[in-house]
Amino acid sequence: MSDCLFCGIIAGDIPGQIIDSDEKTVAFMDINPATPGHALVVPRKHAADLIEIEPEELEAVATAAQRLASRMDEVLEPAGFNLINSCRPAAWQTVFHFHMHVIPRYEGDPLKLPWIPGPGEGDEIAAIAEKIR
Ligand code: AMP
Ligand code: ZN
Repeated sequence: MSDCLFCGIIAGDIPGQIIDSDEKTVAFMDINPATPGHALVVPRKHAADLIEIEPEELEAVATAAQRLASRMDEVLEPAGFNLINSCRPAAWQTVFHFHMHVIPRYEGDPLKLPWIPGPGEGDEIAAIAEKIR
């Protein structure tokens, strides 16, 4: 896609701190890191989002994200990780080339995800489960 930011980074037309790549994926540092080491893994083949990406491309991204997290675990020694994908604007997606955020987490880091867990309604959970099944 000619006007896609991440296709531009993959092609080398737009600068990016590339940290890993393979036949199907490229990983680079996020320009606005949520924590030190925050990176993105993208498929080389353009797909807008989670619904559009082909399963084998998604598999390659997941494998690359695991490889990257393992590498970060060795060199950054974080306390943990969040892997995050946002699909569509309602879920905070802002760049429409599928990407998996790999976010190393550190004890006491300032990252807050806007999710406040609270108990669900059993019947409602079961009804939604039934719809999904
Ligand atoms: P999302 O909001 O899930 O679509 O994530 C898009 C991510 O891309 C954000 O975390 C941005 O900071 C990041 N981003 C935007 N432009 C660039 C860029 N030129 N290089 C690296 N990361 C970028
Ligand atoms: Zn693209």
